[in-house]
Amino acid sequence: MKNRVISRTAGIGIIVILSVGIVLAITKPFSVMEENDIVGGFQFPSLPYGYDALEPYIDAKTMEIHYDRHHRAYFNNFVNAIKGTPVEDMSLEEIFAQMSSMSDVIRNNGGGFYNHNLFWKNMSPNGGEPSDELTAAIEKAFGSFDNFKELFGSAAASRFGSGWAWLVVNSEGELEVGSTPNQDNPLMDISPIRGIPILGLDVWEHAYYLKYQNRRPDYIDNFWNIVNWRDVSERYEAALK
Ligand code: MN
Repeated sequence: MKNRVISRTAGIGIIVILSVGIVLAITKPFSVMEENDIVGGFQFPSLPYGYDALEPYIDAKTMEIHYDRHHRAYFNNFVNAIKGTPVEDMSLEEIFAQMSSMSDVIRNNGGGFYNHNLFWKNMSPNGGEPSDELTAAIEKAFGSFDNFKELFGSAAASRFGSGWAWLVVNSEGELEVGSTPNQDNPLMDISPIRGIPILGLDVWEHAYYLKYQNRRPDYIDNFWNIVNWRDVSERYEAALK
């Protein structure tokens, strides 16, 4: 009798442990490395926070699909496209500098791979404030911080269809705001805005549609709550060197 009670308790324990395991496996709260995440010199990055970390501004489901399906597909398509070609040994920066001579597959997927690498790091649930140097540069370039936000926001809102808004350091070491279509970026020789991107905002519908539907301006307004200013400030400093 006693043994039966013990074995029943143990049985319930095992069922509870299995259930928790299954729930964790299904919800997968954090990104995990997969075996094909490093291909040649390129690595699909891990997400620097959990899928729900940017709630309520970006919902967990959007983060999961965006990172684990969209971003991963860009990465996979990119490494497959360059496999066995001379491009395999180039850096993304070198590839983008010669973008006009490359295929659309490399342009779209190499861009998608790089742009999202930047985007995840540009955001944080506690990104702090811009450095004094970056604040001064923003005020010098745009008159005021509010003016900068308005210009960046309108670049993001007015980009027709899919694309990105950017804050870049141009070849003169000055800040500029602009946007690019699709997965283009300001490192590409075909881009209308050129420079080193330090802040990017994805305005593809896949970045916001589940939560915001057609309200792209609300998504853009909420982006300011989760900008990782520490990361943007570090990128600004590095871009000046
Ligand atoms: Mn995207």
